Amino acid sequence: MARYIFITGGVVSSLGKGIAAAALGALLQARGYRVRLRKLDPYLNVDPGTMSPTQHGEVFVTEDGAETDLDLGHYERFTGRSANRMDNITTGRIYMELIAKERRGDFLGATVQVIPHVTDAIKAFVLDGNEDYDFVICEIGGTAGDIEAMPFMEAIRQLGNDLPRHGAIYIHLTLMPFIASAGELKTKPTQHSVKELRSIGIQPDILLVRADRPIPVEERRKMSLFCNVRETAVIQALDVATIYDVPVAYHAEGLDTEVLAAFGIDPAPKPKLERWQQIVQGIRNPEGEVTIAVVGKYTGLKDAYKSLIEALQHGGLANRVSVKLDWISSEVFEQEDPTPYLERVNGILVPGGFGERGSEGKILAAKFAREHQVPYFGICFGMQMAVIEAARSLAGIEKASSTEFGPAEEPLVGMMTEWMRGNELERRKGEGDLGGTMRLGSYRASLQPGSRIATIYGDTEITERHRHRYEVNRAYKERLEEAGLSFAGMSPDGLLPETIELPDHPWFIGVQYHPELKSRPFEPHPLFKSFIAASVERSRLV
Ligand code: GLN
Repeated sequence: MARYIFITGGVVSSLGKGIAAAALGALLQARGYRVRLRKLDPYLNVDPGTMSPTQHGEVFVTEDGAETDLDLGHYERFTGRSANRMDNITTGRIYMELIAKERRGDFLGATVQVIPHVTDAIKAFVLDGNEDYDFVICEIGGTAGDIEAMPFMEAIRQLGNDLPRHGAIYIHLTLMPFIASAGELKTKPTQHSVKELRSIGIQPDILLVRADRPIPVEERRKMSLFCNVRETAVIQALDVATIYDVPVAYHAEGLDTEVLAAFGIDPAPKPKLERWQQIVQGIRNPEGEVTIAVVGKYTGLKDAYKSLIEALQHGGLANRVSVKLDWISSEVFEQEDPTPYLERVNGILVPGGFGERGSEGKILAAKFAREHQVPYFGICFGMQMAVIEAARSLAGIEKASSTEFGPAEEPLVGMMTEWMRGNELERRKGEGDLGGTMRLGSYRASLQPGSRIATIYGDTEITERHRHRYEVNRAYKERLEEAGLSFAGMSPDGLLPETIELPDHPWFIGVQYHPELKSRPFEPHPLFKSFIAASVERSRLV
């Protein structure tokens, strides 16, 4: 039977709860256990699909097409297990399902209440579908004391009693701030946060304490005493140079040993950490460096491009170079000549994006890359903009545009309302709610034998994850191919362009999907590996 690990956060947000959960997952996996990670998000949105990436960070898309919290990306990258739509739940979704039931009359006249109806729904979600796992790690979003997280806290408290003894443990992640004037790390915020948890009936078994310097033994004892946690279970979580250091660092501090001890598992199998050690070695000892310009819209908030940044790092690891990212807001190119910004970079990447603002700048970035033989990687919107650029510059279709920006005379990119997924016809409405009108999740694509992209994948049949409303319009395919842009990848029914490339260019590829979502440190995505390799080549020339 699965054992449950509940991870809560305290003191402040952004302490890296998602990475801590993912790293613990990796450590348990390294000991041979089967691990599932799930996220409970207290906000009222049904999913983060409609939330601005500048507020919430990237929307992570699962194989089965759910729009989820970016922490699921960490879970996948650290454990290699593909998440699904049942791995992330929000208060909004719980309420939506509950209210639908209430309207149907399923509660037979009962008063529907937070306890037990909402908490029961949360518990049912947490316990569902875990037959194949030894450990289920559930991260609760937000921090202890948040009003909106209360039903989740209450539900996990109840589970501690519902499950057999040694069936569940609680880990609380806190922060010890360093107060410069006193020259000390302070335990009080941790004490307060644990007090808050205990007041709602949760006694943490393990404290994971973030600090920017080693925690002295006396302070650790103090937290142990005041928070009622064993001294060995007060674990220091120091800042590390890269997130991939975290599994090894937490292991060195005894996190996984304490977790197993809390479940009464003793002696525990030894963990195999070689692959993590290798990754850390690789990151620490690069043999060179490349600079990639990322020309996008939300360049101020790196969380909006979380998976992309990681995938580029993985590509660097595979080529033994460090990857320096030069973030450029595409709007700049609408005012200024891109040359001084782009002439020195070794590769140009235009990531996914939405809306007209900044699109002309992205088109100019693609133009620069094409004309100056700089490796170009266009992802989703970045592919669409490259197609518009090629249509204008190579095929003479001056009015080429996307219907995303309003009615277009030459709709190179347009809304498709029907497509095939396997043998089934799927439809989307042209109008309607923004939530749930996109092509989402994993789809197959067929790659032309002998094309560059097929060579990179080493295969002609691939599956990749999508998240977009618009498609490159295949009505222009012949004209563009005559002009030199090759549609190397198509959906299996031949209707939707999936990848484009310029055969006469050192490396110019656009993909309609998001390959960054499937890249992992120990399994870098072939496109990122190849793009960085091409950028390394380029760096030798400039
Ligand atoms: N805005 C574009 C579309 O909806 C691209 C989306 C994306 O880059 N993820 O098709």
